[in-house]
Amino acid sequence: MLREAARQRLQAIAEQGQTRLRRTAHSPTAVHQWASLPGQEPLRQLHFCSNDYLGLASHPSVVQALVDGARRHGVGSGASHLVTGHHAAHETLEQVLAAWFEPWVEQARALSFSTGYMANLAVVTGLAGLVPADEVAIFSDALNHASLIDACRLSRAAVHRYPHADLQALEHALERCPQRLRIIVTDGVFSMDGDLAPLPPLMALAQAHDAWLVVDDAHGLGVLGARGRGTVEALLGSGVGVTATDRLIVVGTLGKAVGAAGAFVVAQADLAEALLQTARPYIFTTASPPALADAVRASLGLIESEEGSRRRAHLQALVARWRSGAQALVQRHPAAGWALLPSQTPIQALVIGDNRRAVALSAELEGLGLRVPAIRPPTVPTGTARLRITFSSDHTPHDLERLLAALSDIAEHAT
Ligand SMILES: *Cc1c(COP(=O)(O)O)cnc(C)c1O
Repeated sequence: MLREAARQRLQAIAEQGQTRLRRTAHSPTAVHQWASLPGQEPLRQLHFCSNDYLGLASHPSVVQALVDGARRHGVGSGASHLVTGHHAAHETLEQVLAAWFEPWVEQARALSFSTGYMANLAVVTGLAGLVPADEVAIFSDALNHASLIDACRLSRAAVHRYPHADLQALEHALERCPQRLRIIVTDGVFSMDGDLAPLPPLMALAQAHDAWLVVDDAHGLGVLGARGRGTVEALLGSGVGVTATDRLIVVGTLGKAVGAAGAFVVAQADLAEALLQTARPYIFTTASPPALADAVRASLGLIESEEGSRRRAHLQALVARWRSGAQALVQRHPAAGWALLPSQTPIQALVIGDNRRAVALSAELEGLGLRVPAIRPPTVPTGTARLRITFSSDHTPHDLERLLAALSDIAEHAT
């Protein structure tokens, strides 16, 4: 029965043209990468699809920190944090991260997690679980990451999904909320559109309606803000004059711009302690390798250094050049029906509309040695199938021109 169900499901996925092919990488994470499809020879491709926004995943100092850490601490942590897995390397990293967010989170304390998925499960279910389920309401942006959606489901709280970034709808829902614990959860940078959560008004709503605000900054950390501290720094500045810092909780992931793996939550010390004592995704899993915490620290050091600023500036220049080039392309070929979504982050969406055309376009680019994934419903709303382009500070202006030229050629022949 089970295998029959699996066969039917796979067939249905195939009939909808939704089968996903897993590629295997044969070289380090980089904008030029050797990768192969199942049963095929590896090809060298130019990637516009990685979350390694600052090129730190293969940075020599980060690699060296991991190697040195492994020599000193071994590889595995051996146990969960509350048994024997919590190492001085984790402790030091938590202190660094808490200091990073002190301007925006009162009495900040950081807690490390093995993945962002688990950090989100922990923060939402852990905080909601501190009071009886019928006293909790969670307000979740409709475009939030799957891990936040799953966390809401697991929490057994009342969940209100508000339309993307719709502050009026959120306010309306908050006004009518009978529950006493209210938690607003939002991505900092939305992963499919690349736009930013409206943090200042969200903070004001949290304050006005006695709610907490959880910001998952997976795609903003390292990339945004003068010192790379992410969406909070980009939108709340230095923190001076910001009210409601007693209501903000930040989740960051370490596998994207930071170039390593893992995640953290920064919250007021007593909330962080409550998560440590009660959150199941914190308690019932093996602590990440301590050497990884050393690599993360090396990466954070780069992010806040002169080199980090240079990488962010280059990334911003690439995004600006892409936007003017892509905008001109869209206008030159109105018949193609393409549209560039507004975004100032390295996540850039070129909406194609039709699923098959988006997939065909991605395949054509792949034939030219460019890897740009097509994203289709249900990941994005119906009729908005798109190319999702992500930039890295390791892309050169020439790499970008190659992408624009390829798209231009395809648009010419398509219309
Ligand atoms: C990638 C991502 C996560 C999950 O983080 P992992 O460390 O990969 O598990 C969570 N939230 C958002 C918005 C993400 O983009």
